[in-house]
Parts: sequence; C-alpha cells; structure tokens
Amino acid sequence: MNAESRLLTFVAAMTRLADTQGGDEDRLIDGATPLMKDLVTHDDWLPAAMAASHPQYYQQHLLYGDPLERFSLVSFVWGPGQKTPIHDHTVWGIIGMLRGSECAQRYTRGGDGRLTQDGAEATLQPGDLDIVSPTRGDIHVVRNALADAVSISIHLYGGNIGRVSRHIFVPETGAIKDFVSGYSNALAPNLWATPSA
Ligand code: FE
Repeated sequence: MNAESRLLTFVAAMTRLADTQGGDEDRLIDGATPLMKDLVTHDDWLPAAMAASHPQYYQQHLLYGDPLERFSLVSFVWGPGQKTPIHDHTVWGIIGMLRGSECAQRYTRGGDGRLTQDGAEATLQPGDLDIVSPTRGDIHVVRNALADAVSISIHLYGGNIGRVSRHIFVPETGAIKDFVSGYSNALAPNLWATPSA
C-alpha cells in the first residue's frame, strides 16, 4: 500500500466497522486493534502539519472525525519532556506508537476516590498499542519518554474525543476537574470544535 492511502484505508475500514458493530465496545476494540497495528507499523503517511510539535504544549491534531461521532483519530505530538495531567477518557481508546517513545502510568480509583498506581509504568515503542476504556482501565498519565526529541502516537477513540467531557485528577489534593480537550488544529471548526448544544 502506498503511504497516501494508508489513512484513507484505515478510515474506510473503521467506518465499516462502526456501521456493522454498532456501539459494542469489545467488538469495536477487537476490530480496530489490527487496523491500528497496521497504521502505526508504517511511519510514512502522517502529513507534516499533523506531526508539528509546540514548544510548550503537547499537541492533539484531529486526523479524522466520524461525522456521526462514533470515532475520532488524533495525532498526539509530544515535545521533549512534555506530559499530560492524570486524566480519563470516558470512551474506549486505542493508542498506537508511531514515532519515538512514550511512557504511561495507569491508576485505579478506589471507592474513597483515592488514586493508586496500577502496575509499573509502561513504555511504548513504535508499533506498540495500548488500550484504555471505562471497563478496561481508563485513568492514566502519559509522557514523552524522550527528553531531547519529539514523539508521536496515534489515538483512536470511540467518540469525538475533542468534545467529550472527562476528568483530570490531582492526587495531591484529591481534586477532580471536568475538562474538554478540544483539538490543537482548527480543521472544520464548525463541525468539530463547537461543544454540543
Ligand atoms: Fe489518555
């Protein structure tokens, strides 16, 4: 397959999957996993504009948003040393490492609201996948594993992630903040950047 057709092929296959599997999270994840694996096994298709980093903030470039908001595909671009807060997603997501490396630490939240580290920090290398979801573990903190280079992972979510209302956790204080991530790029803002009425 040539580089130009990889993204289109992925989007077409994901659309067919959403058409046939409806909202069944497990079947969508099972069907999307090999598609994501194939996408991030080749690093020859991401347009340069979608690989742009920012000196201060990690970037979330929307690559494609399903018009029915059944899924979205985002290019996450980490500048050297950049890191997320501890956050959740509230929809399923598949993370695929495309370039460089990132580290992810999962957390569980107890009945008292306290966060506990869940296992050791995992490191993703190009071609590796990670899965998040409310049923499989949804809270983590992610950082660029590289202190001196950009890293890029491709994220597939089971919704229009840029306008999903989700949470940031501050373990030191126990605070939970609502947040909506938006997207770093301004593609089709009337469709994708405006919160639902
Ligand atoms: Fe995340």
